[in-house]
Parts: sequence; C-alpha cells; structure tokens
Amino acid sequence: MLQLAAEIMDKNICPELALTAHRLVMGDGSLDAEIMLIGEAPGKKEDLTGLPFVGASGTLLDAMLASVQLERKDVYITSIVKYRPPNNRDPKVAEKAAFWPYQLRQIKIIQPKVIITLGRHSMECFLPGMRIGDIHGQAQRIQLDGLEVIVLPLFHPAAALYKGSLRQTLLEDFLKLPELIKTPRSLPDIS
Ligand code: URA
Repeated sequence: MLQLAAEIMDKNICPELALTAHRLVMGDGSLDAEIMLIGEAPGKKEDLTGLPFVGASGTLLDAMLASVQLERKDVYITSIVKYRPPNNRDPKVAEKAAFWPYQLRQIKIIQPKVIITLGRHSMECFLPGMRIGDIHGQAQRIQLDGLEVIVLPLFHPAAALYKGSLRQTLLEDFLKLPELIKTPRSLPDIS
C-alpha cells in the first residue's frame, strides 16, 4: 500500500488537487479486511490528519460499524479521490477517472468480499448508470478485473447528517452487511 501511495505521488496524479491539499489520504484499516468502505473524497479533517472519515461523517460511520459489532480495525476505509478537493467541492469526473486505476489496485491488494460504496460518486464508479435513490441497500455482485465482489451501495453518511430522514435508511441498509459477509465469495460453477 505504501508503494501504491508513493506511485500516486511520483506520477503526480491530480496535480491541482495535490497542490491545494495537505496530504494524500490513502486509507486506513486492515489490509486483510473482508469489507472495504469507499467514500468520495477527504474533507478538511481528513486532509489534516491523513485518515479517512474522521470528521462528523466518520462518527456516524463508527456508529454504523458498531451496530454490527465491527470496529475500524476490522475493515478498510478509503475514498475514490484521495486528495481533498478545495472547499469540499464534488470530485470532478476527470479526478475520479485519474484515481480509478489506483483504486482498482488498492482493491486487489485488500481482496475484499464486500465493497460498501458511500454516496453517489463512489457508487457510479462501480455501478455506472445506476441511481443511488433506486438501488441503495441492494447488494450487487460484480466482476472487477477478474475479482468477484459484492457491492452494497449506501447513501453517504454526510447526506444522512444533512437530511435527517436518510439516517434511518442508511442504518437499515447497513444492517444487510452481516448476511452478505456470510455468503460464499464466488457463485458456484454450474457449467
Ligand atoms: N467523506 C468521504 O467520502 N471520505 C472521507 O474520508 C471523509 C468524508
């Protein structure tokens, strides 16, 4: 993972973001995790500490993990865009595209069984053409460069903080996780 971070910096991925951000926020948690949570981009506190989801959204995320008896050390947490966009603006399509090959490699290092996308920006990278309002909480099995993973698309915790009615939906959707973790890693070969 250190090597991947070094490469992102050497290749000067998203040079404009790199100039305004304090640091690369690569991710945090266990490299052996079965569950990977992927948000959109670091915010102010993440940019200062170098850790993902340590602001208000992170507090909600911690509570969600605790609701299924998990802690941060049991999962791996990151964001698609790994530099803070100025003033927390939405990540641009080009920025998500620039980070995508590195995101894929990060996933291949972790080899998660379940990827939880947090918010629309992350979801669109894995489930293009789908709408978060339609498919939140509905697990999808996809192939990523030969790796079979289950994607559970969730609303972003920040959206639930902003719009209280989403909080319950987010918490309920998250409760699908224990069942997904129990399902076999790949579909049985029926050929
Ligand atoms: N939102 C994200 O998507 N990622 C973070 O690290 C923090 C907030």
